[in-house]
Amino acid sequence: MLGAGVVGLCCAVSLQKDGHSVTLVDRMDPGTGTSFGNAGLIQIDAVVPIATPGILGNVPRMLLDPKGPLVVRWRYLHRIAPWLAKFVLAARPDSVERISMALASLLDSSNDAWLELIKAASAQEVWRQSGELHVYRKKEAWDAAQSTHELRRRRGSLLEDLTVDEMRQLEPALSPELYAGVFTPNANSITHPLHLSEKLFELFRRNGGEFVKDNILRIETGSDGEPSQLVGEHEPRTLDALVIAAGAFSKPFAKSAGTSVPLDTERGYHLWLPDPGVEMRRPIIVGDHRFGIVPMTGGIRLVGTAEFAGLELPPYWDRADILAELAAPFVPGLNLDGAERWMGYRPSLPDSLPVIGRAPGRKDVYLAFGHGHLGLTMGAVTGQLIADLAANRTPAIDLAPFRAERF
Ligand SMILES: Cc1cc2nc3c(=O)[nH]c(=O)nc-3n(C[C@H](O)[C@H](O)[C@H](O)COP(=O)(O)OP(=O)(O)OC[C@H]3O[C@@H](n4cnc5c(N)ncnc54)[C@H](O)[C@@H]3O)c2cc1C
Repeated sequence: MLGAGVVGLCCAVSLQKDGHSVTLVDRMDPGTGTSFGNAGLIQIDAVVPIATPGILGNVPRMLLDPKGPLVVRWRYLHRIAPWLAKFVLAARPDSVERISMALASLLDSSNDAWLELIKAASAQEVWRQSGELHVYRKKEAWDAAQSTHELRRRRGSLLEDLTVDEMRQLEPALSPELYAGVFTPNANSITHPLHLSEKLFELFRRNGGEFVKDNILRIETGSDGEPSQLVGEHEPRTLDALVIAAGAFSKPFAKSAGTSVPLDTERGYHLWLPDPGVEMRRPIIVGDHRFGIVPMTGGIRLVGTAEFAGLELPPYWDRADILAELAAPFVPGLNLDGAERWMGYRPSLPDSLPVIGRAPGRKDVYLAFGHGHLGLTMGAVTGQLIADLAANRTPAIDLAPFRAERF
């Protein structure tokens, strides 16, 4: 198993459940990559892809507005252009409809899949049955969101429209100067994403799993094209079978396994407030700017934004600082003392769908990456699906929309 982020960990423990002996390989400690710093949301209602017809008109602003929810760095524009072209195609109404059905097929099983794993890992203390409160300050933002609310409702999500008073009854820390909001009672959240990964890793070790810390450089294949060795900076490892779950870094490994995928990254940021000075019970999603104000164990995380700047450019920390500025009119009085910034790499495909399946033309290589904004939500169900494939069971979910060769 290459990659011990939340997706790799879920795959590893699901494979162990079927009796496989699993080695996890990662250059970092388990769960300390992108899976460390996310918003902790189990967003089973997130059936709307990132590319929608509305986004097309926003592309010029994406290039110019450093405070916008989606930004493209000029230095990366030439590299991301082919990806953006596919992103634009995915925004056609018929594509959005198809993609949202595929998302729903995974999301509908995501809660149950997590509850099973949370129980197996004795991680109940990080699971919060919280719902999510989406708040809007400007009427234009509320109006613009109605088409996505409508799509969610059409896919079966429960969304309750709330007045400002009703929202403030749920979350008294909210400003009275808001316009309206919507509550999604079926969404859940993780109060400490790293702790969740640690609990999964403990389960993995209890089940006899081995962890190898190494920076993997390449996969070697035999004459039959099947992978034979994982070559890193330490001893090469002989392979019987391989799951590629290296998040945003999976592209070259998939390539060695014979598969080209347009995987790139939407970098995201958080600002951790260890002494936030306000009480909150559940995640608040700021609809006007599309980021979260999320209470977690020991503080509040201001978290979100998407930036196209690849895997090599340095972080633009003003993207994290802006979150405090944007949060202030929604939750006044947030205390920024001791704030810590973080950046991570969402593994993103242009159609907002992950790659889950066997590598084309390979018997023993499985692909589990590209979960974009929903890797935490979909981690557990992805693990179940990879285990189904490895056991030659027919998965309960149609995996055709998640094939690597769909592009
Ligand atoms: C700001 C932000 C907020 C988010 N909020 C949410 C949310 O609320 N809900 C949600 O569902 N999702 C959310 N996401 C998305 C989610 O965090 C990701 O989709 C998920 O963490 C991806 O998990 P992963 O295991 O695929 O990747 P990672 O966590 O990145 O794990 C991949 C692992 O592969 C390892 N690796 C890579 N290359 C090599 C190599 N050469 N050798 C050895 N090891 C290697 C890395 O070290 C890493 O540990 C958010 C993301 C961001 C950035």
